[in-house]
Amino acid sequence: MSYKILTIDILQEYIMDIEVIGAYLGGGDITIDEIGDGNLNFVYIVTNTINQKSLIVKQAVPYLRIAGEGFPLSRDRMKFEIRALSFYASLVPNLVPQIYYQDEDMSLVIMENLSEHIIMRKGLIDRVYYPYFAEHISSFLAKTLFFSSSLYLSSSDKRALVDRFNSNTQLCKLTEDFVFTLAFMDDETNDINPDLIKEAQSLFNENEFKKNILKLKYIFMTQNDALVHGDLHTGSIMLNEKESYVIDPEFAFVGAFGFDIGALIANMINSYISHIYRSGDEKYRDWILETIREIYRGFEAKFLNLWSQYPNSALLKEGFIANDELDEFKKEFMQNIFSQSVGFAGCKMARRVFGIAGVEEIRGIEDSQKRQDAQMMALRVGKELILNYQSISDVDKLIETIKK
Ligand code: ADP
Ligand code: MG
Repeated sequence: MSYKILTIDILQEYIMDIEVIGAYLGGGDITIDEIGDGNLNFVYIVTNTINQKSLIVKQAVPYLRIAGEGFPLSRDRMKFEIRALSFYASLVPNLVPQIYYQDEDMSLVIMENLSEHIIMRKGLIDRVYYPYFAEHISSFLAKTLFFSSSLYLSSSDKRALVDRFNSNTQLCKLTEDFVFTLAFMDDETNDINPDLIKEAQSLFNENEFKKNILKLKYIFMTQNDALVHGDLHTGSIMLNEKESYVIDPEFAFVGAFGFDIGALIANMINSYISHIYRSGDEKYRDWILETIREIYRGFEAKFLNLWSQYPNSALLKEGFIANDELDEFKKEFMQNIFSQSVGFAGCKMARRVFGIAGVEEIRGIEDSQKRQDAQMMALRVGKELILNYQSISDVDKLIETIKK
């Protein structure tokens, strides 16, 4: 099928003609609603009002949805989203929405409607506790990263994986520009709080900070550790108290181990900071920090456990090295993943302060003084993580740093 944009008036006919979809939805009255909170793509909820069956239709258009046709963006991104969702479905089927239908040529995916789940960013703003989230997301991270890495795959399978994902050039470039560059220099895309112009200027002139940004950007650009989601913020997670789902992996590519972990930690810290000013709820803030600790510890334990089950891979051959030396190697290896994650978390936090895309929990604080204070604190923590990413040695130290 050659590509066409499924406007709302032709969407119903188009999807009902797809056999599996027609059969899934069944006969009856269909309603279609557009969900407006995504940035890049068109997302619709389709519901059969008779039997209440529903699904999500997501299609990429050859431009950026929020900006319009004047901002072209290859719809190839949907190809990578489909591929990543399929890969995740094979590893962690309970942690991603089920795919009902996919068509790379149409840049289209039709998937399970997570009707009982909400976007995590919103849940965190409303101070909802998610007791299983750390358990779920640490499994997601450990399994998706381990099984797509050279610690598990054979050399040829790993290279085939890189081939399938690493032409996601435009979205990787967006990250290089917006996460690692433009938010840290004078640029017209920035959105600087007028009361913080002085702070922005002084940040833009800090050389140690900028050198570390370059180190981290270089790791982002060149390291091919494992398949990363590429945009794992709390807006890419839908959940309730019992279940968690990762959505929207259109930025997926084979990149650095620490990138998704860093993104997630950054967003949890932003939420922590926002509640100093939003609610002042200390108990909730403690829960956020404890969750960060559990996520990292859980990830590390699960990742190492998987590693111990697979002694042969592209990297390792049984008998190559004595066991205690191997343990030492693994320890350093995990240390490196942690440092990187801290550095990436810092970049993700700092870039949200002056850069194009702020986060609702902080930019949405109504009182302008409190908003400014929260932005300053996010900047301070982000900067601290970037400057010290190589010396913050474990998650307990990270949490101490945040508290301080
Ligand atoms: P974009 O790529 O444009 O950012 P997202 O994948 O983030 O789009 O989806 C936009 C919004 O659509 C999400 O914030 C969420 O509210 C909703 N959404 C996306 N996928 C699902 C799903 N499987 N079930 C329910 N809602 C979804
Ligand atoms: Mg998206």
